[in-house]
Amino acid sequence: MLHVDGSCHCGSIQFEAEIDLDKVTICHCTDCQRMTGAAFRTVVPAIKNSFKLLQGTPTTYLKIAESGNRRIQAFCPNCGTSVYATSEFNQEIFGLRVGTLNQRSEIIPKKQIWHRSAMPWVSDIDNLPKFDKQPS
Ligand SMILES: [Zn+2]
Ligand SMILES: [Zn+2]
Repeated sequence: MLHVDGSCHCGSIQFEAEIDLDKVTICHCTDCQRMTGAAFRTVVPAIKNSFKLLQGTPTTYLKIAESGNRRIQAFCPNCGTSVYATSEFNQEIFGLRVGTLNQRSEIIPKKQIWHRSAMPWVSDIDNLPKFDKQPS
């Protein structure tokens, strides 16, 4: 178990939670690709009832999956950072976005889901040229 805290990019939303390091997951689903603008999203569920919003009020978007599953997606109304997702009907488990957590470099994914829609290059990025910052 790990205590984590996190925030959106502009800092108006702050939260804390406890997570189980065995449940860190990379999601390659097309909803995550679309909603993040990225190749995949890394998520971890907060342990039941451990999520505490410390500051700010997220805006919510109800995402209805192909399966009919209804998930509330919460994001910062100012900077747009995605903060968590939770069930429309049972708000005990909050799916946290690992990139928003201050401890993110210690939070290592344990599995990949929806791999059928993974970008075809996702396993190969280690071979690309690397720069410490954006090259000029
Ligand atoms: Zn923000
Ligand atoms: Zn996904």
